[in-house]
Amino acid sequence: MNKLLIIVPCYNEQEVLPSTIEKLSGVMNDLLQKDKISRNSGILLVNDGSRDKTWEIISDAHSKTNYIYGLDLGANVGHQNALLAGLEYAKDKFDLTVTIDADLQDDVSVIETMIDKYNGGAHIVYGVRNDRKNDSAFKRSTAKLFYKIMNMLGAKTVDNHADFRLLSNTAVTELLKYSERNIFLRGIVAKIGLKSDCVYYSRFKRTAGVTKYPLKKMISFAVEGITSLSIKPIKLIMLLGLLIIFCSILAFIYVLISYFLTETNPGWASLMISIWFLGGVQLFSVGVVGQYVGKTYIETKKRPRYTVSQILEYKD
Ligand code: UDP
Ligand code: MG
Repeated sequence: MNKLLIIVPCYNEQEVLPSTIEKLSGVMNDLLQKDKISRNSGILLVNDGSRDKTWEIISDAHSKTNYIYGLDLGANVGHQNALLAGLEYAKDKFDLTVTIDADLQDDVSVIETMIDKYNGGAHIVYGVRNDRKNDSAFKRSTAKLFYKIMNMLGAKTVDNHADFRLLSNTAVTELLKYSERNIFLRGIVAKIGLKSDCVYYSRFKRTAGVTKYPLKKMISFAVEGITSLSIKPIKLIMLLGLLIIFCSILAFIYVLISYFLTETNPGWASLMISIWFLGGVQLFSVGVVGQYVGKTYIETKKRPRYTVSQILEYKD
C-alpha cells in the first residue's frame, strides 16, 4: 500500500496554519476512504525557525491527531532547506511524498491525481499552474521573466512549477544524492531523469498571512537558482569582454581617422563616459564571477544545511 507523507514548510504561518491543517486532514481522510493511501500515512509540518506561534500550533495539532508530524528546525534556513529537511526525514520511511506550501495557494484536490499518476508508474509528478490570474500582475510578469532567463541560461526547469510535487521514495533517494549546500530543488528534480508527469491546476490567492517572498528575496532566489544551475553568466561575460575590445578597436580607428582629417582632439566628455562605462562593466563582471567564487567557498565548508531541534513522530 502507498504510505504517503505530505511535507509542508512553515515560516511564520500562524495565521494560515490552522486552516491548512484542517484542509490537509480532509484530503488525508478522503484518500484513506478511497483506499489510495495506507493507514500510517502522515502530514509533516516543518517549522523553519518561525518567530511566531507556528511551532505551538504544530505541536498542538500533533498532540490531538496521530498522523500529524512536526519537525522543528533550529533556525530559519529558507524554503528549499526546510523542504530538504522534510524529504530527508521521509527517505526510506515513506513510499511517496508530496511537498506543498503552507498557504495552500496550490490546489490540494490534485494530490489524488498525483497519486494516480504515481500508481501509473511516474516517480515525479509536477504540479503546474496553468492559470495564474490570482497572482498579482507583478508576480506573474516577474515569474515569467524568471523562467525565460532560466531557460535561456540553459537551466532546465518545468515552467510554472514551483515546489508542489510528488516524489517517489526512489526519486527522494536520488535527489538526496545531490549534496550541494546551495540547492535549487526544482532545477535538480528536473535533472534526476526518472519517469515524470504533470498535473495542472489554477493557483489560488493566499487566504491569510503575507508572502514570505518579498521582491528582495525573490531576486536573490532567482540569482541563487541561476548560479546554482548554470555557469553561462561567466561565459557571457567573456563574450561581453570580447565585444567591448572589438568596439574599442573601432573607436580607435575612428579617432585616428578624424584626427588626420580635422587635426582636432576629441573632447574629454567621451573619455569620461567610456571610463565610467567600462568601470561599471568591470565591477559588474567581477561581481558575477565573485558570486561563483563565493558559492565555491560555501560548498567547500560542507556545513550542514539545517539543524533539527525536535521531531514529533507518529504515535498510536
Ligand atoms: N517558507 C519557509 N522558509 C522561508 C520562507 C518561506 O519555509 O524562509 C515557506 C512558507 O512558509 C511557505 C512557502 O515557503 O510555506 C512559500 O512561501 P510563500 O507562500 O510566502 O511564497 P509565495 O507563494 O508568495 O511565492
Ligand atoms: Mg504562497
